[in-house]
Amino acid sequence: MKLRVFQKPDKSYDIEVLDPQATIQDYLDAINYFIETTMEPPCRGCDECCWERIPLTSIDALTYVEKLAEQLDLEKNWPLLSFLKDYCYIYVEGPVVDISLGYTLEGACGFLNQEERICSNYMARSLVCQSFVCLESSEQAQELRSQLVNAGMDELVRLWLIQSQQAGQKPFMHEQHQAAPCLEDYPVNAFTGKVGYGQVLLKDVCTPELWGQIFRASDQ
Ligand code: SF4
Ligand code: SF4
Repeated sequence: MKLRVFQKPDKSYDIEVLDPQATIQDYLDAINYFIETTMEPPCRGCDECCWERIPLTSIDALTYVEKLAEQLDLEKNWPLLSFLKDYCYIYVEGPVVDISLGYTLEGACGFLNQEERICSNYMARSLVCQSFVCLESSEQAQELRSQLVNAGMDELVRLWLIQSQQAGQKPFMHEQHQAAPCLEDYPVNAFTGKVGYGQVLLKDVCTPELWGQIFRASDQ
């Protein structure tokens, strides 16, 4: 076991990494295992978690493009840019860029089938959706989730800026206030060049401080 997700006496959940080679996919698998085996019921199907902002990582967006390009009718030459424009929400304030999944006027995720209360693209759910546990979390579990999402979104912003440049387009934004996004603010990171969560090591994303809190050498 490379990673353990467990419930604390106060009913919140926590995370412990046992192997320095643990990847984000191991993290997602451990969360999924925890939900399936510990939570009763695993999900009440209320769909409340699909009415929140869903920030995206580069791997989320590349997975949507790879798995759903035809279904989403993405533009062939620049499918990632087409996905970001038609299915996401790009908000820019000064140098800061935020990219999330698009949502309806009422505020539901664009991929939520509201009648049946199910995700219409369950197999390509984003990191935030896959790592959502319907419980309070420890501070370090929360911090891990947010560091993964932030690094992944930084890489997505980098791809958006680079590909817009390559396509000879101005970076498309849905909303902006004195937008001044700059490629230098988005250097390569652990997500760069990766297309699956099994390729990204947790230790390459976490700050040393967080890694020190969540890593416990395994005696197995
Ligand atoms: S995981 Fe989401 S849909 Fe399931 S019970 Fe929790 S909030 Fe509701
Ligand atoms: S992608 Fe699916 S699981 Fe995630 S918020 Fe949207 S509808 Fe819900």
